[in-house]
Amino acid sequence: MTTITLYNTATRKKAPFAPIDPQNVRMYVCGPTVYDRAHLGNARPVVVFDVLYRLLRHVCGADHVTYVRNFTDVDDKIIKRADETGQPIDKITSETTRWFLDDMGELGALEPDHMPRATEYIPQMVAMIEGLLASGHAYVAEGHVLFAVDSWREKYGKLSGRSVDDMIAGARVDPAPYKRNPMDFVLWKPALEDEPGWHGPVWEGREVGRGRPGWHIECSAMSHELLGESFDIHGGGGDLMFPHHENEIAQSCCAHPEGDFARVWMHNEMLQVEGKKMSKSLGNFFTVRDLLEGRGPGGKPVPGEVIRFVFLQTHYRKPMDWTAQKAREAERELDHWATMLSVDQELLEQDPSQGVLNQSIVEALADDLNTSLALTRLKSMARFVDNSTEFLGLSEKKQHAARLSFVSSAALLGFDLLQMAKQYRDRPIVKDLEHFELSLAYERIQAMQTKDFTEVDRLKAALIDAGVEVRMSKEGVDLVPGPGFDPDKLEGLT
Ligand code: AMP
Ligand code: ZN
Repeated sequence: MTTITLYNTATRKKAPFAPIDPQNVRMYVCGPTVYDRAHLGNARPVVVFDVLYRLLRHVCGADHVTYVRNFTDVDDKIIKRADETGQPIDKITSETTRWFLDDMGELGALEPDHMPRATEYIPQMVAMIEGLLASGHAYVAEGHVLFAVDSWREKYGKLSGRSVDDMIAGARVDPAPYKRNPMDFVLWKPALEDEPGWHGPVWEGREVGRGRPGWHIECSAMSHELLGESFDIHGGGGDLMFPHHENEIAQSCCAHPEGDFARVWMHNEMLQVEGKKMSKSLGNFFTVRDLLEGRGPGGKPVPGEVIRFVFLQTHYRKPMDWTAQKAREAERELDHWATMLSVDQELLEQDPSQGVLNQSIVEALADDLNTSLALTRLKSMARFVDNSTEFLGLSEKKQHAARLSFVSSAALLGFDLLQMAKQYRDRPIVKDLEHFELSLAYERIQAMQTKDFTEVDRLKAALIDAGVEVRMSKEGVDLVPGPGFDPDKLEGLT
């Protein structure tokens, strides 16, 4: 069996991954706060952990992996959005949840096995808070329940490698007068009359008061409910390491000291745009939907698989730079793959899981998700399938098997090449090419008789200029759109 090696933020080391229960490998990833369209940066953890999910399913068996990603559907930002737009909170959260799933679906991301919404787990959060109060890890102050960092001082900050004193000195913490230590964080806070609220935890026989949970407690409560007190992998963007993940660890380990919460912590680095932080003030902020529909940089729709391709070129632990140039190159490559596969009719009807996976791609992914190496290896497969003399020396059957193996290996990275090839085949311009194949073949027969090749040469030159590869043989004429194929140049050509 392939050994997966993962870098663990908690130990700062790469180590072989050994699941707690190989029959049920468990992963939790922090999901979005649902009040608006996902921006391109939000898509990075989705794609990164989708590749990990696919790899785990391949290595451990599809039925032996449980992937949970939450939706934060109660939060100050959501309440603010409802105030600004006059829309009910439910409408905002359900609509943006749908948008998120649609957008991520376009990037080829599988849906996790569980997608809990915070508001569906309030009783579990309240129970956890009550447990923390009872064990002295939390206290009540002015309608709030706060986690007492001093009750866990030795361990708090281990994940991000800081001590409590450093954090106090360096962080912009909210020094609310009711906090015992400025680093203490909110587990429960009072809700205003017109804000969403629930019955609060009970402490010393009295309810703390109508309110809502702090942000961090939801991940602790939901991961415990769905994955147990010890699970294998916890993931999210590097911006969440502190304070979010640090606080999750404190709460979960104090509430369930018998477990170890998450064993492996994985964090993706941030996404930038053309070398700069993506931000509204810099005017380089755009959503995934903007990009898909041509409202992003470049001004042209960028298909989901192109976005995925660009993402996977950079290792998840490195900052990734989105550029319009990278998107153009990725699109050219993927278009070429689709064209190349579209000629094999039988292949288009096959199940992509039937091909033999390229083990060197599996191994690249198993090495702490080396997606850029996996892509390089996939490109070599494409080159082989495309034009190597070795490939052309194979029997039809073997050529077909090699194409299927390419398709299956691409599927492990989340690319549906058969779907892309079908779309390619059905594009009107491809049908037009069939028309040019016929006219060129006809002109050639004529020219062989008249010895006047002017018309053949004219057509051929125009096709080549449009980026079409013209293959003429005894069997006939084959027109294959090349990587720089520009259908517009064929307009008006007869
Ligand atoms: P949020 O909705 O802000 O809580 O973020 C949802 C997820 O997107 C989290 O895992 C964040 O770490 C991640 N994220 C936000 N901005 C970026 C970015 N620029 N690059 C990569 N990941 C990001
Ligand atoms: Zn979380």
